[in-house]
Parts: sequence; structure tokens; C-alpha cells
Amino acid sequence: MTGLDELYREVILDHYRNPRRQGKLQGDPIHAEGSNPSCGDEFFLDLFVEDNVVTDAAMRGLGCSISQASGSMMMDMIVGKSVEELRELIQKFKVMMSISEGDSPIDEDRPGSVLGDLEALQGVRKFPVRIKCADLAWATLSEALDQTTS
Ligand code: ZN
Repeated sequence: MTGLDELYREVILDHYRNPRRQGKLQGDPIHAEGSNPSCGDEFFLDLFVEDNVVTDAAMRGLGCSISQASGSMMMDMIVGKSVEELRELIQKFKVMMSISEGDSPIDEDRPGSVLGDLEALQGVRKFPVRIKCADLAWATLSEALDQTTS
């Protein structure tokens, strides 16, 4: 295991052990749920969106460290962002997860560089079955955002 892998592991475990914005929102939030049956992961998301900006968010999750850490990292980033910005972020995350290892290692435009803790999840690409785990929270967020435009 390289030093970088170890660092990434630390970041993932920290989010898994201390998930951010854990809980439920009071009132009548936008609610979305997702599951990843191949691993047994579940993710429940509450959001308040005002004037196209996320003003509050909370999650409840069950499952493996990758799915929960990815969810926690996402929760760290979404409050205060507009629906537009979040759709871009989801897109960047998807691109990051789909770049195969060894592809253009030095590329300033590589989406990972702006994704902060999320970069820790890049190691997951080595394990294709776990990509679904990492993607779960983001797919759920995308579903929640769809509800804001209806
Ligand atoms: Zn999983």
C-alpha cells in the first residue's frame, strides 16, 4: 500500500466513523432514497432548497464504508450550493470515477483536483463492484434535485 493509498484510507474511515450531517430534517423536506442491492447499501437524503439553493441537508445511511463515506463527503459539500452547481458536481464525480487508472495522471483539468476529500474515492476504481457503492449517495442526490424542478 502506498502512502497515498493510506492517506485516502484514513479520509474514508474518518467519514465512515464520523458521518457528517447525520439525521433527519424537521418539516417537509425533499426526500430521496437509494439502494445498492449488490452490496446492501442504503441511503436516505433530506434536503431543503430555497431559491434554487440547498439551505439544509441530512442523511441516513446503512452499508459499507465506501457508500457511507461517499455520502458523508457529499453532505460536507452540498449546503449553500445551487442546484446547477450540484448537477455539475455530480457530473465531475462521475467523470472522476470513470477515468481508468493510469489515464493522464498529470492533468490540471482532472476533476479530482477540485473535489477535495472525494479524491480519496478514486482508489475505489480499482474495484469496479465498489463503484456502485461510491455512486449511491450521488445518484440519490440527483433524484432529489430532479424533484426541485418538477
Ligand atoms: Zn457498498
